[in-house]
Amino acid sequence: MPSTASDPLSQDGVKSISALLAGVGVPSILWGEYLLTVYGVPTIVGGIDFVVPDDKMLLAVATLKRSHLRPCPDLDACIVSGDRSPFPSPAFHMHIPGSEIDVSLRLHSETLWFIPPPDKPPSSKREIGAASSPYYLEASSPELPPWRPGRGQGAFSSHGSPVLVPRAHVLLEAFIRLASAFREGHCNYFLQMVTYMAEYPFDDGLVNIDLLSKPCRTFWDKLEEAKLPVRQLVGELQRDLGDA
Ligand SMILES: [Zn+2]
Repeated sequence: MPSTASDPLSQDGVKSISALLAGVGVPSILWGEYLLTVYGVPTIVGGIDFVVPDDKMLLAVATLKRSHLRPCPDLDACIVSGDRSPFPSPAFHMHIPGSEIDVSLRLHSETLWFIPPPDKPPSSKREIGAASSPYYLEASSPELPPWRPGRGQGAFSSHGSPVLVPRAHVLLEAFIRLASAFREGHCNYFLQMVTYMAEYPFDDGLVNIDLLSKPCRTFWDKLEEAKLPVRQLVGELQRDLGDA
């Protein structure tokens, strides 16, 4: 069932952090496992990630430090920031009191560098709808899937503060580019994310692959053909993106 308000991973919790950052002028984009569940991927969520513009990171960090969140008790041992982490470490993270759940902040330049960050936080959902960004959607958009049994939670309810999410093709483009950029260390993690995108949002008809950049579209097409080893495809992707 959809999460309830007492659940630290409830969508109200996500909305409140987005609103906290928006309140000091920091636009944030939902990211990570939580974002996958909004796209209907049935994945386990261990935390709440946001991408913020690089020039707003210090302000975002200061804002979270003044909130109810708790500092990480052990950066080296924590799954979020330690060596065991399957994904690149966030720029900063804290934890929700009484749980192991993290709230992580990621730099735009290390996550979504191929698109511009939002200029400012949206003041209302109506403003987001009217502006119709080519890159971002509001988390309660009808373009996102509804809640379905056995699947990720899907679109947020329409009440409460706005939360921005990347459009589906932007998310797929990001995972492909991240698999290339982080080939040393995190390639398999991001390739798994690409597989999730193929199995769920793409199969649901939510991803317009015609909007992918040429290198990423070529990688996607060859991956779907499944004729060449993935290792070779990633090598070609790195060359096409200039990462090699
Ligand atoms: Zn931690």
